[in-house]
Amino acid sequence: SGTALGHSVIPIVNKLQDIFAQLGSQSTIELPQVAVVGSQSSGKSSVLEALVGRDFLPRGSDICTRRPLVLQLVYKKKNKPDGTDEEWGEFLHLPGKKFFDFNEIRREIQLSKAHKVLWAEPFHEARPAFLFCTYLEAIVCLTLRPITPLPLLRFALLTTMAETEREAGGNKGVTDKQIRLKIFSPNVLDITLVDLPGLTKVPVGDQPSDIEARIRTMIMSYIKLPSCLILAVTPANSDLANSDALQMAGIADPDGYRTIGVITKLDIMDRGTDARNFLLGKVIPLRLGYVGVVNRSQEDILMNRSIKDALVAEEKFFRSRPVYNDLAERCGVPQLAKKLNQILVQHIKTVLPGLKSRISAALVSVAKEHASYGEITESKAGQGALLLNILSKFSEAFSSMIEGKNEEMSTS
Ligand code: GDP
Ligand code: MG
Repeated sequence: SGTALGHSVIPIVNKLQDIFAQLGSQSTIELPQVAVVGSQSSGKSSVLEALVGRDFLPRGSDICTRRPLVLQLVYKKKNKPDGTDEEWGEFLHLPGKKFFDFNEIRREIQLSKAHKVLWAEPFHEARPAFLFCTYLEAIVCLTLRPITPLPLLRFALLTTMAETEREAGGNKGVTDKQIRLKIFSPNVLDITLVDLPGLTKVPVGDQPSDIEARIRTMIMSYIKLPSCLILAVTPANSDLANSDALQMAGIADPDGYRTIGVITKLDIMDRGTDARNFLLGKVIPLRLGYVGVVNRSQEDILMNRSIKDALVAEEKFFRSRPVYNDLAERCGVPQLAKKLNQILVQHIKTVLPGLKSRISAALVSVAKEHASYGEITESKAGQGALLLNILSKFSEAFSSMIEGKNEEMSTS
């Protein structure tokens, strides 16, 4: 069972989370957030889906992500021994409604995207004022007859409101309108993934002329956070040196400590070209390096090809191309998952000492409480002490394991 993301750290981190949950303790392991950036249709949603191993994001050349989708994966302890545990999704804007069908999740995301388009929002926000003015105007026209300057007033008011919204709260207005989806599953890590709108250069339809700047500001508000891992997605059939993703990641993370380069669409490069130099970091060097992937094409999606099949096809693609044979470590979604895993393990390694000291402190105080109760071992305090003991042993074993056998854990 399981997903590509966190394949090797899932069981162990989740075991720790279980114990923390039983303790009712605050000491949970907070994993970094992962955001995907890139230009429109570069394959961001496809990469996220492949990592999660489930089909639920809208993809396609004409369906663009207009609002950030904040995807919280929530580990849910297995209840049934036969492994028939349910996985489901819940949207923040539809409290209490559980989606067991992942196709329905996709439809809901698409719907909520259609509802409010970010560039129409200033006017959306100003609608009450608009209605009020229209109402006033109607009364005035009915009672006073003579032509009044009210229509002009209304126009002026609306324009000012839209401008204020754009200038003062423009960015806020955009980021606040995120779609929040929680996916509960026994096969995931507690981690947050963010699917961001793609960068567009040329406004289409009713998009404002500053659409590019707006989207940039919004993306930046996510990826500038020091706790955010950046998956900078660039399609292989475009010019890497002009990559929007790498340019933005370079601003947000100039030292490259938290940026992973992802090259998509290796399968549709111009004949006679390959992505070797990209993957080797010869075009734009990146500290954490690049991984090349082949996701499903639009045709695959229309034909309902599963993620599982796509992974098999991807493996076959790389195996049949001699140019990539010596770059196995930089090719394929499983390798990308492995890279993320290594970063997560590293992260857990850095937070564990803090967790351990908090646990020991709790242990001391529970032991004191326990002693004050005397003989009563069945008490809550007694149980707590027992649990804490197990937990501290467990976390010790875990930290020595990731210190000593890091390789083994992340390559399994
Ligand atoms: P986003 O706008 O960045 O989220 O991009 P999507 O994930 O929606 O992908 C845009 C289009 O490119 C979709 O039709 C995908 O099927 C297609 N696509 C994404 N990755 C690949 C790839 O590696 N190879 C091929 N052939 N098509 C891809
Ligand atoms: Mg998308």
